[in-house]
Amino acid sequence: MILILLGPPGAGKGTQAKLLAAALAVPHISTGDMFRDHKARGTEIGKRVQAIMDAGGLVTDEITNAMVEERLARADVATGCILDGYPRTVGQAVFLDGLLARLGRPLGKVVSYEVSEAALVERIGGRRSCASCGAVYHVTQQPPRQAGRCDKDGAALVLREDDKPENVRKRMQEYATKTAPLKAYYQARGQVVEVDGLGEPAVILAATRQLLGR
Ligand code: ADP
Repeated sequence: MILILLGPPGAGKGTQAKLLAAALAVPHISTGDMFRDHKARGTEIGKRVQAIMDAGGLVTDEITNAMVEERLARADVATGCILDGYPRTVGQAVFLDGLLARLGRPLGKVVSYEVSEAALVERIGGRRSCASCGAVYHVTQQPPRQAGRCDKDGAALVLREDDKPENVRKRMQEYATKTAPLKAYYQARGQVVEVDGLGEPAVILAATRQLLGR
């Protein structure tokens, strides 16, 4: 089953996507992670998206759609996948509909994580990421064992460039104008399930699985 996770920056989509993917034994496809990987490897795509991403803007639909099309063609997606951070514009949603129709694959549910704006700002402000492996922590909610160091590889934890306050504002704006309309797009087809995004990750996962019946 192909699931889409929707929610503003800081809603906990990435965390839930990893947990859900493990629970349902399907790949986790995060366009944000894919772009960060391109940047880290210095690929052609990485060079094209670097400045846009760092400033909290959205990469063009053209680049994003092409990257997702290639990813969804791989064999490991046969049993389904969790789409995290894609689609992010109505243009991407329309493209995805066409792509899935061509592939003969139905879209399952769209999970919308509901979180207040105040909670989002608090979460992103305290978020720290491993400079080496990308693992995510929070200074108070989910601190690493040793302050400022990744539990997995000991590398330094940093504030992601796009998590800096001015760039967070830009991401929130992009979300409100370009991504939030997607909820209505999928609601019109009865595909949206709403989940309260505040609380323990394990509790949110359990609530999601109950709503999905999986
Ligand atoms: P967030 O933490 O805001 O949910 P992600 O890790 O999903 O962010 O994505 C980080 C950045 O990657 C975005 O701010 C954007 O620049 C780019 N990006 C990721 N997915 C998409 C997409 N579907 N369309 C356009 N840009 C994207």
